[in-house]
Amino acid sequence: MSHFHPQPEWLTEYAAGSLDWPMALAVGVHLHYCPACRQAVQQLDAVGGALLEELTPMAVSAGLKASVMAMLDDVPVLPVQKTKAPDVPALLKRWVPQGYTDLRWRRVLPVLHEVMLEKNRDIKVALHRIAPGGKISSHTHTGQEITVVLSGHFSDELGMYADGDFILRTGEHQHSPRASQNEECICLTIVQGGLKVSGLLGVLVNPFLR
Ligand SMILES: [Zn+2]
Repeated sequence: MSHFHPQPEWLTEYAAGSLDWPMALAVGVHLHYCPACRQAVQQLDAVGGALLEELTPMAVSAGLKASVMAMLDDVPVLPVQKTKAPDVPALLKRWVPQGYTDLRWRRVLPVLHEVMLEKNRDIKVALHRIAPGGKISSHTHTGQEITVVLSGHFSDELGMYADGDFILRTGEHQHSPRASQNEECICLTIVQGGLKVSGLLGVLVNPFLR
């Protein structure tokens, strides 16, 4: 059960297909863990088409809209089963086909490993693994940072986070995340700075949907 959720506006934009793809990925991964937000999105989906027309001033082709909607429909609606190996949300399977342990983790700090999923000058989408008890030194961000917990727990000055929790930090926040003592913590992290990748265009230029 998640305790930290995306803002309602994000769920609305997600249902309408107007979120930038990295944000849609973060929200979609959260939905994997959160029945409450899944239900909200399903209700919003009914009016999604109408909202899309209001929210996006540019014309969107029917084919593109259908492909975005198809991606969002891929979010599984089954309840999450706790198993030994953490389950991988469907939206991450293209990068994590065999589970988290088989990935090629790159050491960033002694307590922090990373797998880069997508990177360009505006956005960085990565998986992070913090060793048990590992602490990341205090930092802020120029843009915004979204973290979705995939496995384990971590805490910072503002709370304690577990599976599916959705944490948004902006340049105003200074934080020093720390994993729980007894297990490692794996997170999806999206850092956005500089220019914003525009919504549906961002989806088009990115291999995410291919
Ligand atoms: Zn939620």
